[in-house]
Amino acid sequence: MASIELKNVVKSFGSFFGVQDVSLDIADEEFLVLLGPSGCGKTTTMRMIAGLEQPTGGEIRIGGNVMNEVDARDRDVAMVFQGYALYPNMSIYENIRFPLRMRRIPRDKHDSLVRRAADMVELGPFLERKPGALSGGQRQRAALARAIVRQPQVFLMDEPLSNLDAKLRASMRVQIKHMQRDLKVTTVYVTHDQIEAMTLADRIVIMNKGIIQQIGTPDEIYSNPANTFVAGFIGSPPMNLVSGSAQGGIFSASGVKVACPATLSGQVTLGFRPEDCLIGGENLQGTVYGIEPTGDITYLSVRTPERTFEIKAGRDFRAKIDSTVSIGFDPSRLYYFDADGNRIGV
Ligand code: ATP
Repeated sequence: MASIELKNVVKSFGSFFGVQDVSLDIADEEFLVLLGPSGCGKTTTMRMIAGLEQPTGGEIRIGGNVMNEVDARDRDVAMVFQGYALYPNMSIYENIRFPLRMRRIPRDKHDSLVRRAADMVELGPFLERKPGALSGGQRQRAALARAIVRQPQVFLMDEPLSNLDAKLRASMRVQIKHMQRDLKVTTVYVTHDQIEAMTLADRIVIMNKGIIQQIGTPDEIYSNPANTFVAGFIGSPPMNLVSGSAQGGIFSASGVKVACPATLSGQVTLGFRPEDCLIGGENLQGTVYGIEPTGDITYLSVRTPERTFEIKAGRDFRAKIDSTVSIGFDPSRLYYFDADGNRIGV
């Protein structure tokens, strides 16, 4: 069993807290993604699990055993980073085999382990080549094969796909997901790319400024964001957020008016997703600031005197810049947040 537990883990650099009081239970075989903007503490959290960084406080367990004082080499974790650091003078075969030699795994087992790992990432035909004779995606797969060859208890991956182009990233995502399902290895994956997080994760941990903002399945994070940070981070474009006032069952802000629960009153923030809008409704009045047809979706920016909203319209929607437009909201998909940015459970 390779569950991972973080209990009140803190990492400070001088007076600055890179990670603040992080508590997290990662189940055996779970694929957990740490997601957040640059500097939010995701890499530091992962490096503490790896043993490359010593926590300032709190406890880290792997498989039930406290790891705080255990050397990185003895934690039985395999890591994959964005710079895939293959040895250029070694063949792909030797690169993948390297961890077996380092760990003094009996020689007679090497060949079958290397070939199994290579087959898993479809690199079987390339084993004799040197890294320089492979494409970026193939090199990245070789790095993955090197991580999986000795079947560790835990995989730690830090933005492993960020050097690849969009198409390769998409196909590598599918491959990583398959590989993790087949090997059933507990995996912690760090990214700032929400598509990667949504497609790969069993659960996502969203961090900001060293603090966990929400933990949940991709569906929960998208459908039930806990606060304005999560709401404004997830989605492409993310949720529109506008502060205004609620009174007598009506929320209003400049250019925006919508029926809201009568229990709401005073200053609140309304959230609605670009995809939950209908052209021609009566909740938002503004002028067309930008229009971007992309084939299947037309992205529309609508300006009110105070701000700009992002709307997803149908593929055939067209409008002139500066023309007036009215938008309706899906009433079942409205979100309200209090003055601290926390979701109001209405
Ligand atoms: P990115 O996506 O840019 O890699 P991240 O979320 O992985 O960001 P971390 O690398 O975990 O962020 O860093 C968290 C915070 O801790 C950042 O503000 C960073 O500047 C700070 N930090 C990290 N390592 C050190 C260090 N050795 N000394 C001082 N500050 C550090």
